[in-house]
Amino acid sequence: MNNIFKNAVQISKIICRAKLSPGDIAVDCTMGNGNDTEFLCSLVGEKGKVYAFDIQEEAVITTRKRLQELNLLARTEIVLDGHQNIDKYIKGNVELVIFNLGYLPKGNHAITTKKETTIEAVQKSMGLLKPNGIILIVVYSGHENGKLEKEALINFTTTINQKEYNVAEICFPNQINSPPELICIEKV
Ligand code: SAM
Repeated sequence: MNNIFKNAVQISKIICRAKLSPGDIAVDCTMGNGNDTEFLCSLVGEKGKVYAFDIQEEAVITTRKRLQELNLLARTEIVLDGHQNIDKYIKGNVELVIFNLGYLPKGNHAITTKKETTIEAVQKSMGLLKPNGIILIVVYSGHENGKLEKEALINFTTTINQKEYNVAEICFPNQINSPPELICIEKV
């Protein structure tokens, strides 16, 4: 196997592969250009379902085109809405939820995830998980908003009842330039 602890995205992918099986329901809470949506689609198979959320129409258009070209659209529900409204679209039975926070690197940097809506979405996602289901949050603290978001998330996760959820935070203390970290919330 290649390195496991290279970065947060690499570890999140290993966990996705370990957790997801054909037929599962997964959620990409920050669709962007659809990298994670496509990856989740490949893991849940044609009997599975991937919900993907973004507030930018541009993200929806790009991802829809991408999935159409790969013949993956039938297993996807693309939602142009904030992830804080996840409970309006999904009622439960979710195996895995992924957040890749911040802004699109080549997009409008003013359109970024925000701590209040992120926490609301994480709390609602926790209520939608199956037993053993997991939430993966890739957090960027290299910009001011990201620092606040990370702080709020860490504060929130310390309040989670350990009898109901396992929580892990994976960081990279020997890397330069504030590398993204991974927060995991797993239902017991
Ligand atoms: N996973 C994406 C990919 O594969 O390209 C990258 C995600 S990018 C770092 C973060 C995305 O979150 C942006 O596309 C942004 O529009 C979106 N976003 C910001 N606030 C949001 C919200 N409240 N609900 C859903 N998406 C949001």
